[in-house]
Amino acid sequence: MRQIAGFIAPYWPAAVGGIISLVLVTAAQLFVPRFLGLTIDEIARSSSLRVLNSAALIILGAFALRSLLLYGQIFFGYFLSHRVVADIRQRSFEQIQRWSLARFSGWTSGDLISRSLQDTLVIQSTLLVGIFDLLAVILTVAGILAMLLLLQWRLALFTLVVIPVLLGAARVFGREIQHASQRAQARTAGLASMIREAFGAARVIRAFVQEEREIRRFRRQNERTFQENLRISQLIAAQVPVVSLLTAGGLVAVLWFGGRMVAAGLMTVGSLVAFLAYAALAVEPAVSLSRSYASVRQGLGALDRVLELLNPAGELRDAPDAVPLPPIRGDIRFTAVSFAYPDGQTAALRDVSFTVPAGERVAIVGPSGAGKTTLINLLPRFHDPSSGSVQIDGQDLRAVTLRSLRRQIGLVPQETVLFSGTIRENIAYARPDASLEQVEAAARVANAHDFIVALPQGYDTGIGEGGVALSGGQRQRLAIARAVLNNPRIIILDEATSALDPESEQLIQQAFDRLMESRTTFIIAHRLSTVRKAGRIVVIDEGRIVEDGRHDELVAAGGTYARLVGPQLVDAASGE
Ligand code: ADP
Ligand code: MG
Repeated sequence: MRQIAGFIAPYWPAAVGGIISLVLVTAAQLFVPRFLGLTIDEIARSSSLRVLNSAALIILGAFALRSLLLYGQIFFGYFLSHRVVADIRQRSFEQIQRWSLARFSGWTSGDLISRSLQDTLVIQSTLLVGIFDLLAVILTVAGILAMLLLLQWRLALFTLVVIPVLLGAARVFGREIQHASQRAQARTAGLASMIREAFGAARVIRAFVQEEREIRRFRRQNERTFQENLRISQLIAAQVPVVSLLTAGGLVAVLWFGGRMVAAGLMTVGSLVAFLAYAALAVEPAVSLSRSYASVRQGLGALDRVLELLNPAGELRDAPDAVPLPPIRGDIRFTAVSFAYPDGQTAALRDVSFTVPAGERVAIVGPSGAGKTTLINLLPRFHDPSSGSVQIDGQDLRAVTLRSLRRQIGLVPQETVLFSGTIRENIAYARPDASLEQVEAAARVANAHDFIVALPQGYDTGIGEGGVALSGGQRQRLAIARAVLNNPRIIILDEATSALDPESEQLIQQAFDRLMESRTTFIIAHRLSTVRKAGRIVVIDEGRIVEDGRHDELVAAGGTYARLVGPQLVDAASGE
């Protein structure tokens, strides 16, 4: 609740407007029965039509005023609820953009999407709307009680007995509904993940002919979601009649007792009519009291799920005194670096120390799972070492701002990610203000210019979702152009060519050769032809550096490297 108040606080004028309308609506409503009762007694006494006429006008006026104010009450309520949801969505997206890469491994994209869209919608429609309804109900019920006590306190005390019963019912239903709705939301998130997979894994699903299984899986989950929603519906459906019955019983009791009091001369007929009108007025709020309470509980379940997105745990932030990294030369030093993933059992890197002078080309070689990607991920600070330090030009990376560091590093990952948009926009992703000449120059370095100008709209050709289909090699060259455009001093190529055909690879090799000129380069590769070109080879195995030297030296030494590239050496020899 404190969290929600924090989200509403900036819009306090709307909240105040809503509450003022609410109070006035309630007052107008409470005025009518009492006025009615007085009028009845007055007419019974004087039989005056003038009294009747003016009374009718006044009641009509009170209702007209109430309707007008009701508009304000409802509008402000919806305004606030939608406003708060928009803010929560914005905040969670901002937060997700700051998540460390390690934190994503515990999540599926479907879960993220369903929490930021679906759960926030539930917060809007249940929690926030429920809070305003609850306020209205509490105010109305309190007002009605006050009026009842004023009218006939003995009869009023008698009706009070109903209240604890109503509250008890509200609590029981509310708790059950909250739990059921939490389960329903989790199931819905599971559905969202499957829909994502139907899209992302479509080729694999077709290739292994697993459509039917996916459909069955979805049906199971969908049916479970339905069952949970059914449970919520049953609870809500049962709740309304139960509460109505309780209140109707109360009304009948009031009529019975009140009638006896009128007969005994303890109360006027007008007062009894007013009393009954108030009691009837309380039925609707009493019913919605329990419904709004259940709504609020349901919304709180969703809020919990959204707050997990907003939890800043595991964020990689700039140190408070971080300075921008000045333009670098590219000297790199790892000192006794160890690293373990938060959920990993063993360390991914152990006591890794080495230095790379600016401009050197280093190939990183090792069996898969050895820690190569983990090692180079420390350079753009996707993670911080658990112990030891990484320095560029003698500057510890933890002391500089992430932004200034990452802008000076060009990363070409194994999986090329292209955004929907034009080719030009994709190349200029990190520098949207780059001129067409700069984009073209980058594309030339990446050996991409020729294929781009051959496309129907050249650099303005749309790619990504719904755009033109590019081959793996073409996509990879766009990724290289993207890294080149920033003119970084440090280049990281993480298995960037592993999945390519020989012809594409050759085009990309040429691109690399241009790219690596006079820059510090780390290249993770398995192909001998790629590795051999690096002046220096660092061999990693089980998180440790096991060898470090030139190709011929390492082959001659007959260690891990010789074992890894041995088969390819034989192939190369027999091919020549
Ligand atoms: P390589 O790139 O050499 O194939 P990685 O650096 O990707 O190897 O992985 C090194 C080790 O760290 C492996 O044992 C892998 O299972 C583990 N690992 C990699 N990424 C994560 C992660 N996000 N969370 C937990 N463990 C990870
Ligand atoms: Mg890897």
